Amino acid sequence: MHGAPWALLVAKIVATLGPATDHAKTLLKMIDAGLDVARINFSHGDAEEHRRRAREMREAAQQGQRDVGLLGDLQGPKIRVQRFKDRAVELQDGASFYLDSSLGLEDGTEEGVGVALQTLHEDVEPGDNLLLNDGMISLQVDRIEGTRVHTTVINGGILSNHKGINKKGGGLSAPALTEVDRENIKLAAELEMDFLAVSFVRSGDDVREARRLFEEAGGKGLIVAKIERVEAIDEIDSIIEAADVIMVARGDLGVEMGYAELTGIQKKLIRKTRKASKIVITATQMMESMIQNPIPTRAEVSDVSNAVMDGTDAVMLSGETAVGRYPVKAIRAMAEVCKGAEKFPLPEGLTRHRIGDYFGRVDEAIAMAVMYTANHLEVTAIIALTESGSTARWMSRIRSDIPIYALTPHAATSRRVTLYRGVYPVPFRAEHFEGNPYRDVFDTLLSRKLAKVGDYVIVTKGDVEGVSGGTNAMTIVQVTEAD
Ligand code: PGA
Ligand code: MN
Repeated sequence: MHGAPWALLVAKIVATLGPATDHAKTLLKMIDAGLDVARINFSHGDAEEHRRRAREMREAAQQGQRDVGLLGDLQGPKIRVQRFKDRAVELQDGASFYLDSSLGLEDGTEEGVGVALQTLHEDVEPGDNLLLNDGMISLQVDRIEGTRVHTTVINGGILSNHKGINKKGGGLSAPALTEVDRENIKLAAELEMDFLAVSFVRSGDDVREARRLFEEAGGKGLIVAKIERVEAIDEIDSIIEAADVIMVARGDLGVEMGYAELTGIQKKLIRKTRKASKIVITATQMMESMIQNPIPTRAEVSDVSNAVMDGTDAVMLSGETAVGRYPVKAIRAMAEVCKGAEKFPLPEGLTRHRIGDYFGRVDEAIAMAVMYTANHLEVTAIIALTESGSTARWMSRIRSDIPIYALTPHAATSRRVTLYRGVYPVPFRAEHFEGNPYRDVFDTLLSRKLAKVGDYVIVTKGDVEGVSGGTNAMTIVQVTEAD
């Protein structure tokens, strides 16, 4: 079913695995509904559970005869309150409440609670706003006494064990990779994850450090930088350069930035990432109401559509699939909305992609020439004979209505291009080295019904087979019948 026609030209779908998806049949249905990349969230569950989910997903993909990428998402230094004596307290507007890293782990009361950041009292000053439980509760800092941060409750509500804390405007000094993350990086390498997502990165250095650890552990996947703190916005150019994929992590980002500017930032991140020829995922609360309901709200439909129209490679589901009542319906709804959105042209800008740039590499220049040609000539498909998938990635940065098939002998490359918008993996190995040099390609296209005899297709390849980054030729050929 590689590149099945129903799946064509649709933005890609990332969905999170969890208790609600823990059935072999559900996984198969998710694949059938349009799942491209499965996310394993290291914030919940233990190593055994992650191993099992990875294995079951791979089995389902094999059974469904589809390439599904696997994304491991590191927990990162999410800062949380410790526990309460009675699990939760209700904070009243105007009340006093303190946060104290020296308080006993279980000793929280209505007066105050412990917090898992030893430097909290150094990272805040009077007047700062602290947001708890994804911004549901807000506190204003009054004064600091030793390790104790005294606050006034601005927006109260129920606060329970281990809820997250963000500082509005950013500035909590936790490093991006914790001890737990370092362990999970090894696990991601062991499970041959295709993507490793790094939470709360502050700079390009954080991304490079994660990549170094992942590669040291034998990992071969792409590195996803999650943009979810204010510092990352200031350092965005260095982060995009260091990463392979950018995730607009709207949950934490929306809390730190305040939600009012989030949409503008999202659009900017999508534009910047595409311009740098990198891949972008838009994440969090995209179909949040489907955790409970079988259909999305109109606002959610519009949100997903706009991200697709702005050029995101992928849209992501979190709780909707991991713990929701309708994981399969959520994916199906998302796939439908993506398809609907693709019927409307993207903004003009994207087709003028890098029109004034010089290209640094030969394979990149070929990819750009292909897309220019494809958009000005009647062709059925673009075929990239590719080792690493990078030629297909460059092509996919340019808007076109023509599918890009990444023909590759490597399963890891097939799984990686699942995230690239408009690119479809096709397993391929050249077998005939005499006669028409395109015979094997044509046979593959014809047998999968991706082209017909007489169609024109554009093929890119390198003179020397098996060399990554070696693409140096483009050919326009007419598909012929087997001789
Ligand atoms: P999370 O990241 O789901 O791991 O918190 C995404 C986000 O913050 O939006
Ligand atoms: Mn987050």
